[in-house]
Amino acid sequence: MSKFCPFCGEKLLDEAKFCKNCGKDVSAYSAPGTGRNSDRGYSVPTVEKSHTLATVLGFVFAFLIPLIGLIFGIYLATRNDSPKAKRYGIIIIVIAIIVWVISFITSLFMY
Ligand SMILES: [Zn+2]
Repeated sequence: MSKFCPFCGEKLLDEAKFCKNCGKDVSAYSAPGTGRNSDRGYSVPTVEKSHTLATVLGFVFAFLIPLIGLIFGIYLATRNDSPKAKRYGIIIIVIAIIVWVISFITSLFMY
């Protein structure tokens, strides 16, 4: 049985520690036998709540201060207890980079 990279979706070898496409550490997601995360179900509402705050702040900073938005995005993308926070984290990282690039290009045309 094969597994996939949680960051970029690349197909991985079962024994892979790092994704060969994006280079991220995937060792925490290995071994389908260790279902520690899945049998927790949808408990721990407090964790979700704090992620929601970080998600909102991440989106706000991604537009205002991309560097700080990027930090929030990385923080969220590395939350192993919440796939939703992970997904938002990746979205925030993408937005922050886009805003950063746009502001950089804009500053070039200002002079
Ligand atoms: Zn990957």
